[in-house]
Amino acid sequence: MAYLSIKNVHKVYPNGTHAVDNFNLEVEKNDFVVILGPSGCGKSTMLRMIAGLEGITSGEMILDQKKINGLSPKDRDIAMVFQNYALYNHMSVYDNIGFSLLVRKKNRRIVHEKVLNASSIVQITDDQLKRKPDQLSGGQKQRVALGRTITRDTKLFLMDEPLSNLDAKLRGSMRVEIMELYRTCGLTVVYVSHDQIEAMTMATKIVLMNKGVIEQIGTPQYIYDHPANLFVATFLGTPQINLIPGEVKEGKFIHPQFEIELDQYKTSTNDRVFLGIRSEALEIVSENGDFEIAIDYVEFLGAKSIVYGFLDQTGVAVQTKERVADSEKCQVKIHKNKVVLFDAKTTRALEEERI
Ligand code: ADP
Ligand code: MG
Repeated sequence: MAYLSIKNVHKVYPNGTHAVDNFNLEVEKNDFVVILGPSGCGKSTMLRMIAGLEGITSGEMILDQKKINGLSPKDRDIAMVFQNYALYNHMSVYDNIGFSLLVRKKNRRIVHEKVLNASSIVQITDDQLKRKPDQLSGGQKQRVALGRTITRDTKLFLMDEPLSNLDAKLRGSMRVEIMELYRTCGLTVVYVSHDQIEAMTMATKIVLMNKGVIEQIGTPQYIYDHPANLFVATFLGTPQINLIPGEVKEGKFIHPQFEIELDQYKTSTNDRVFLGIRSEALEIVSENGDFEIAIDYVEFLGAKSIVYGFLDQTGVAVQTKERVADSEKCQVKIHKNKVVLFDAKTTRALEEERI
């Protein structure tokens, strides 16, 4: 059985909001699971239910072979880090980090050892230990909050958008620090974020949510390459995945301007589809392209450029490392093995028949 097993969990708030709808997830020891999704999709509600800060309406949660549904937060062996740090401003940084040990009346020497060990892991200096949290920067405060969770020796670490109050540069370096902490201490983490970059760079497993429902679970690479539906396809990746409308018949994708053979799709449907193809799986070629686009503008990003253009009315983005000539039109080639087809009506990905 998985380390943390969440089965058929629903949450309906007293005001009738159905915040989480039939949530199922298995978290293995040493997993770094990122629950990802737009604001209001139920991420924090789910995390707070794991922590026991919010009751579940129905379902079951098992941690380390023990049913935790009815347990109070302090009996769950779970530590949580919040977006706003949740530090005690009237206490020193030292006491904040050792808080859970001090309230459990642990021996002073043990407290001292654990506080020093935790602060060295999260790089809090002796001088900073003496200060009050208010006298620290945002990044340092979040380190203190992380340090406080380390002293607790808990089974599971929950983090709710811990980096979203930090500026972009600090966010990048704290991301690296959290990953180091995760690796060196062998943590099991469930991390909530609305930021796809955080999810892609940190997760061993992404749970992508939308409107209270899980849209897809998988490794970052898997969901990026094999999105289950249009929501997942468009939520991950910048620029957004290209979606070209057309039909599929006997293994061919048919658009008014062009046709291509797709070996992996044998099925014929008479329904409308979208051909999904990421900008890096398209290529600008001088001749024999699959279709032609009218260039709208080129975004120069240093190591690469993104060419934005139109195929009829459909916007198309193509990544290229070449310098693009200032022409009005260009030929584009599709890397066919990277294509994903979506049923336009159901928005679900069509079954592939990989050989
Ligand atoms: P996220 O963390 O993904 O932004 P939340 O879990 O905070 O989303 O919220 C999910 C939904 O539940 C939202 O529609 C939100 O307005 C609603 N919600 C959150 N907390 C409460 C509450 N205490 N009472 C009623 N509705 C709530
Ligand atoms: Mg939230």
